[in-house]
Amino acid sequence: MIAEIIAAGSEMLTPHRQDTNSLYLTERLNALGVAVAFKTIVGDNLQHLSDAARIALHRADIVIFSGGLGPTEDDLTREAVAAALCIGLSRSPEILTAMYKRFAERRVSMPENNAKQADVLDGADVLQNNNGSAPGQWLDTVVDGHRKLVILLPGPPKELMPLFTEACEPRLAASLPERHFAKRWLRIALMPESKVDAIAAPIYQTYTDVESTILSSAAEIQLHFLCAKPTLAEAQQRVDELTSKVEDALDEAVFSSQGEPLEEIILLRLQMRGLTLATAESITGGMVASRLTGVAGHSDTYIGGAVTYSAHLKKKFAGVSDEILKQHGTVSDQAARALAEGIREQTGASIGLAVTGVAGPGPLLDTDSIEKPCGLVFVAVSDGVSTESLQKTFTGDRDRIRTFAAQQALDLLRQKLI
Ligand code: ATP
Ligand code: MG
Repeated sequence: MIAEIIAAGSEMLTPHRQDTNSLYLTERLNALGVAVAFKTIVGDNLQHLSDAARIALHRADIVIFSGGLGPTEDDLTREAVAAALCIGLSRSPEILTAMYKRFAERRVSMPENNAKQADVLDGADVLQNNNGSAPGQWLDTVVDGHRKLVILLPGPPKELMPLFTEACEPRLAASLPERHFAKRWLRIALMPESKVDAIAAPIYQTYTDVESTILSSAAEIQLHFLCAKPTLAEAQQRVDELTSKVEDALDEAVFSSQGEPLEEIILLRLQMRGLTLATAESITGGMVASRLTGVAGHSDTYIGGAVTYSAHLKKKFAGVSDEILKQHGTVSDQAARALAEGIREQTGASIGLAVTGVAGPGPLLDTDSIEKPCGLVFVAVSDGVSTESLQKTFTGDRDRIRTFAAQQALDLLRQKLI
């Protein structure tokens, strides 16, 4: 079952108004297991609207119209749908009476134009609109031998939303086969999308009953798996099976299979082992600390840290020696390692984590005028027995480089805790 939403209204073809009704409708339809395959925005023109209706009726099982049910000349949805389906419209005496009553209650006479709001498509059920004058319509019909559900809804969101939830959702649920959804997702740090997909696609492509989506966000890739089946157990079994196969293939690159963020995984692992953590951040200026403190209830595990932005505070807060800073500079493997070791010692934490780099724009003239390129980042983690470090070069603007640097620091620690 696929749906198409047609939003009628010339204003939505201008930069000033957006079609938000279709976002709402899409969310609600998805929750019922119906995928929206097409969305169309059409201006208030009878020919264009009926053309769009014809195309939609040909390619979708459920066609929902938003707007154009009002009393004015440019409200043309009823007429356009009737033309596309080659059916008539009849003026409903019940709706007309109700409309006269509404106007009478407000002690104004009803303008003649309003009467067209009582026009109902042949065979359609009227959906009473408790928040406005134009009722919705529901037509269960057949086009070229295929069953089609055609739904007409008023444009104002305050009318459309309750009308859809109260009058359409129960009807749709009753018209659709019973379906239950299971969803799982994997989160992967710092791996290019194409590389993740090259590993995952050969597996998920064999699960044609599971909808697989790959999403890329700041320094993270997510793989979402969604399955709908007549029973939840069936759906869950398919999704779990696929998720574990993909997780095995991606191996240690996967940091979360239940949706937890990277910092939460790290804190849980540290807590399980009774370890504490402190951070020394230069390029990220506290982004790592902010992410760690964003997870509630872990002050016994993440004890704190320092923003060691200047050379002076690298020395003062993390005990980085003049010799290292002079010989190798503030952005160097040696400085990152010294920061991790130093912050661990200064704070008494079990583990020290450090990050230093060049966020740009442009290169950095480090100690003794040694040029360090924009995007160069060093991260290090120390547990008092050994110190591990990593050098990376990230591209992009300051924000992107800093986001990647923070993610890299956290991921180095995660790898150490596997
Ligand atoms: P009315 O009786 O108010 O004329 P209608 O069903 O004819 O209702 P429209 O005239 O198309 O609906 O739209 C009325 C108002 O509803 C618009 O000015 C706009 O603010 C809002 N609206 C219409 N369509 C949408 C949409 N797709 N998304 C968000 N808002 C919308
Ligand atoms: Mg209108």
